[in-house]
Amino acid sequence: MNPTTSASTSTNDATFIGQVFARQQARAEALRKEGWEPRAARLRKLSHWLEENRAAIQQALYADFRKPAAETDVTEIWSSQMEIKHTLRHLKQWTQPTKVGTPMSLVGTRGWVQYEPKGVCLLIAPWNYPFYLAIDPLISALAAGNACIIKPSEMTPTVAALLARMCQEIFDPAEVTVVEGDKETATHLLALPFNHIFFTGSPQVGKIVMRAAAEHLTSVTLELGGKSPALVDETADLRDAAEKIVWGKGINAGQTCVAPDYLLVHEAVQEQLLKEIQAVITRFYDPAGEGVAASASYARIVNQGHFRRVAGLLEDAQAHGATIALGGLVDAEQQFIEPTVLTDVAPTSRIMQEEIFGPLLPVRTFRTLMGAVDEVNARPRPLALYVFSQSADNQRYLLQNIPAGGACVNETILHLAHPDLPFGGLGNSGLGRAHGHAGFLSFSNEKSVLKQRVGRTAMKALYPPYTAQVKKM
Ligand code: NAD
Repeated sequence: MNPTTSASTSTNDATFIGQVFARQQARAEALRKEGWEPRAARLRKLSHWLEENRAAIQQALYADFRKPAAETDVTEIWSSQMEIKHTLRHLKQWTQPTKVGTPMSLVGTRGWVQYEPKGVCLLIAPWNYPFYLAIDPLISALAAGNACIIKPSEMTPTVAALLARMCQEIFDPAEVTVVEGDKETATHLLALPFNHIFFTGSPQVGKIVMRAAAEHLTSVTLELGGKSPALVDETADLRDAAEKIVWGKGINAGQTCVAPDYLLVHEAVQEQLLKEIQAVITRFYDPAGEGVAASASYARIVNQGHFRRVAGLLEDAQAHGATIALGGLVDAEQQFIEPTVLTDVAPTSRIMQEEIFGPLLPVRTFRTLMGAVDEVNARPRPLALYVFSQSADNQRYLLQNIPAGGACVNETILHLAHPDLPFGGLGNSGLGRAHGHAGFLSFSNEKSVLKQRVGRTAMKALYPPYTAQVKKM
């Protein structure tokens, strides 16, 4: 296959990948000189394609893990369109140089920051929002003027093929190419000297990506996962908290990087909160009383491997003394796991040690806020923190004392939908920021420029040979 004729390849052949990369490197030079308008035109094309292919996107997601069409609309298509809209609204302004002030010591000079594309970027996507999580960094990369190779997840092959078709239809392969394949393909890609790598996936693979990037001193954005707690104190509106926690956990059947992973609830309100959670699960996923498995609003676990992993966490928790308070039904053939709430969960059980990434909600109680803070901070830094409280003091205390990539107060997940809130993690949950202006900056080199007038310098008095006066300074 000739890399000039296709914007996609299902081959993981290192030679072919090298050719695609070389063509993108050659094009990157021209892209660097472009203004913002051609970038905006690419984003408009992308937006138009999304509009035209809504049904195909819904079908691909349904084929891969029975994702409900309504969830695909909101979390894959609408979210991508919102990001494009926001970027188009601000692109001209983002690409303009930013002036900075002049300190007394440099009087007579002018300083500014100008933004240039990093060059050729690699975007590695996960399977859980397989469309949006490939498109979202692509929007930022194109806005900043880069060429990109996208490596979608092999676990959602229908979506990967659709992304490949999309790029073939709307982009020059020297600008955007999809390379389908698994970790072997990713390994070939990671051997190349990309100018930036944007990786979304697990902390384990994030470390592999960062090690490979270090070989070429390539910059990285790592959007990883972890255990994001939801904290409910004794002042919280329990009905409101239950609704938002069940929604955040139930969407995509818990396979969401920012899903509330576990629940920490004040011991005085646990019983009432569980009653509210039960009522919401029934209202959302079983209004006709036929069981959650009959619901058209509830996705499946992506594959047998992940089904066994999540079901294994449930078994292990029970073996360590946990009680199933709600749910508990699993069906291997259907890759179905009911929304399940567990109480009396041992902190040493695997469900409290590993990211769950499925519809299991372990509940632990706390007596004091300080105790809750200690419990969260004993684990690696979370991607998100969810605080449910009507006490401004408690909200402030928890926000101040628990480091996390992002946080919501009396809400789950929606901080990632705010285009002006940079999105990302810290430590185990990630490095760098995505979305909106932060995403544009991740894919840009911020070039700092100082301009001096000919014949002038603020440093003349400091030039060698050094006088006694200079030596005294
Ligand atoms: P993963 O790390 O298994 O895979 C992600 C990508 O890496 C895939 O494209 C895969 O093919 C590739 N990959 C796998 N092994 C590799 C290797 N050895 N070398 C190079 N590449 C390799 O993650 P996943 O299972 O697809 O996604 C789930 C994880 O992603 C969870 O931890 C979740 O929290 C996280 N996630 C984070 C965000 C975020 O924005 N922070 C969003 C979604 C998912």
